[in-house]
Amino acid sequence: MKKILAGAAGAILLLFLLLIAVIIIRTALLPGPASIAATRAAPPAYDGPAIAARLSDAIAIRTISWNLDTPPDGKAFADFADLLEHAYPAAHAAMQREVVSEHSLVYRWRGGGEQRPIALIAHIDIVPVEAGTQNQWTRPPFSGAIHDGAVWGRGALDNKGQIIAIMEAAERLAAQGFAPSRDIYFLFGHDEELGGENGAGEIAAMLKRRGVQLAWTLNEGSGLVQDIIPGVSSPVALISTGEKGSTTLRFTAHAPGGHSSAPGDDTAVSLAARAVVAVMENPYPMELDDNVVAFLHAIAPELPFAQRAALANLWLTGSIIKAQLASDPTTAAALRTTTAATIIEGGTKVNVLPQRAAALVNYRIHPRDNVAALRERAIRLIDDQRVAVEAVGGREPSPSASTAAEGYAAIASATAAIFGPVPSAPSLTLQGTDTRHYIGIADDNYRFTPFIYRKDDLARIHGTDERVLIDDLARAAAWYETLLRETAD
Ligand SMILES: [Zn+2]
Repeated sequence: MKKILAGAAGAILLLFLLLIAVIIIRTALLPGPASIAATRAAPPAYDGPAIAARLSDAIAIRTISWNLDTPPDGKAFADFADLLEHAYPAAHAAMQREVVSEHSLVYRWRGGGEQRPIALIAHIDIVPVEAGTQNQWTRPPFSGAIHDGAVWGRGALDNKGQIIAIMEAAERLAAQGFAPSRDIYFLFGHDEELGGENGAGEIAAMLKRRGVQLAWTLNEGSGLVQDIIPGVSSPVALISTGEKGSTTLRFTAHAPGGHSSAPGDDTAVSLAARAVVAVMENPYPMELDDNVVAFLHAIAPELPFAQRAALANLWLTGSIIKAQLASDPTTAAALRTTTAATIIEGGTKVNVLPQRAAALVNYRIHPRDNVAALRERAIRLIDDQRVAVEAVGGREPSPSASTAAEGYAAIASATAAIFGPVPSAPSLTLQGTDTRHYIGIADDNYRFTPFIYRKDDLARIHGTDERVLIDDLARAAAWYETLLRETAD
């Protein structure tokens, strides 16, 4: 008996040692952060203060998207186009410029080779400054003030900073006689903040009519983050390969009316409420898909051994890691389709049984789901024929761009050249961008801005005190130059 027990203990010990060995080996096998070699030893240096001055001028022009019923301020958009023309003469001499839908700008830099064109996407319009918040800004929102190493104002990050950095790179390349080996487009829409139908939508339609098929596009929608991921101090490059879709489901419940003194088991209000509970209590499962695993493996080398070992051994720790990611609503949103009941309505009088009640539930759709499947799932969960379920509007999630394609490699390589061997991984954009309009005419669509976003920056976008650091602007210009050389030299 003793012998058997000793044998069992030995076997358990052996298994345990084997487990430890597997964990250590997997941790050690994790590719290091320097796996992407820097392609250029000395990134091109840009004159930060000069770029800042040009962005400052751009911010002073109020290219505001108010709402769909208010037409854009034609003079502001014309002034913006003029500013680019005067600030970047060599780029304008090298490229053809077209105006689309009166205010959007399309630049084409003709290339000689066979490779399909690429496009850099950005938008000229900005969101308004919320009424009553003007005085809360450290510097007035349309001053373009240069203060404390940054350019301040609405649009600094979203999205004029990008347009300026792209044009700086084009100006330098053009002045040096750069002759691209493929067509390069810059597509600057004027109504992204209102959905982009007239801007990006019309540009995409025009390119389609001309038979232009792009190899890949690059737009806003992700970037480098720093001091946002706990325990990781290095910037992390998140290259977005897709964006979520969205839809709203309306649950309409019907029940017999009457006096509240003699109710049945249910009223329209209780049916609608129960339908909401059915979907809210059954959230979509979170999944550690390939992108999330790649992200976790990318940041692992930056972490202390215990955390590194946990991320290297997701086969063992997956559910613990998932629970941790779930505790933050933003990271949880990246792992699944989100469900948010936002409106509920029904009933008119306390003593009258309501015959109709409705609830609206907003979903942000992960690329592995779709609108029709979402509706089917809600019907199944509610499981009550007295509740009708319909989709109100809807935008499918984007297809996922390839991480093995040329565009992804070029973005990663330019990032290594400018930012050094920082962790880099694919990611998912949670909001909608103009990219949705280009999906049919591009093989792959990526979203990445070469700015480093720090904790408080996310609240500044569309909020108060939007600003971009001058160092970030200069690095971004160098990054776009490196990217264009990388992909079209
Ligand atoms: Zn934007």
